[in-house]
Amino acid sequence: MNLDNLSEPSISLKDVAVQFGQFTAVREVNLDVREGEFVAVVGPTGCGKSTLLNVITGLLPHVLGKVMVYGKPLQGLNPVAGYMLQQDALLPWKTALDNVAIGLVFQGVPQGEARERARRWMQKVGLSGFEARYPHQLSGGQKKRVSMAQMLILAPKIVLMDEPFSALDVHTRHLMQNELLRLWQEDRKTLIFITHDLEEAIALADRVVVISAGPAARPIAEIAINLPRPRIVEEINMTDDYIRLYREIWSILGAEVEKSHATSF
Ligand code: ADP
Ligand code: MG
Repeated sequence: MNLDNLSEPSISLKDVAVQFGQFTAVREVNLDVREGEFVAVVGPTGCGKSTLLNVITGLLPHVLGKVMVYGKPLQGLNPVAGYMLQQDALLPWKTALDNVAIGLVFQGVPQGEARERARRWMQKVGLSGFEARYPHQLSGGQKKRVSMAQMLILAPKIVLMDEPFSALDVHTRHLMQNELLRLWQEDRKTLIFITHDLEEAIALADRVVVISAGPAARPIAEIAINLPRPRIVEEINMTDDYIRLYREIWSILGAEVEKSHATSF
């Protein structure tokens, strides 16, 4: 894909809709994400967040409307996006190091060089010394670190994350959020982060997009998060600005969560 057009939004969704048979999951989705922006997408469980992310990965066929990547229509898999999903996608029969190296090997990088680069990434995510471990020998947080290195080693221009830390205990989650912020600050790639956790969304992002309860879910609010960086998540959520933002966004999101409960129980 020719990327001579970095002034265009990284991602631009225009009137996007996704149908699963007769069921309309999302509709009238319009969203632009600028180069280098960290956007968090929040919404009630089941509203269509993963569906939207899958639209951007190109994994989902039959998407209505327009999906533009740096000003060009997306066809097939998104070649400039790396993604990390909620469930670990590590290969259980490969070591942590080889799991990190595997994308490079697929790209044809010689094994020795791929391993060397993977070693550097293991270091970057704080896993030096764990190279020879197999996934079942790693804690939940360590597995997430491996997954993060596995994606970032391929230097994607756009990073897509779908509730990557939601299964972690709160302390590990905070650690991983801080780790992600630290890595993101290094080169500020475009990052779209899906979460149902408003606290996480505000602590991490430059902008929070709220999705309505489904069916036919769509973005209903966008709130700029002008909290200073660098941020430490356990500290930022005690500031007055954070609390004001939380109240403002929850007044919108809370109503959608209630609606989604009313329709699913
Ligand atoms: P979220 O990630 O916000 O929890 P999803 O995007 O996974 O929600 O799902 C949105 C809605 O679309 C849900 O009602 C879900 O049941 C439905 N859905 C998702 N994927 C499919 C599919 N492949 N076939 C049918 N329905 C689906
Ligand atoms: Mg989901």
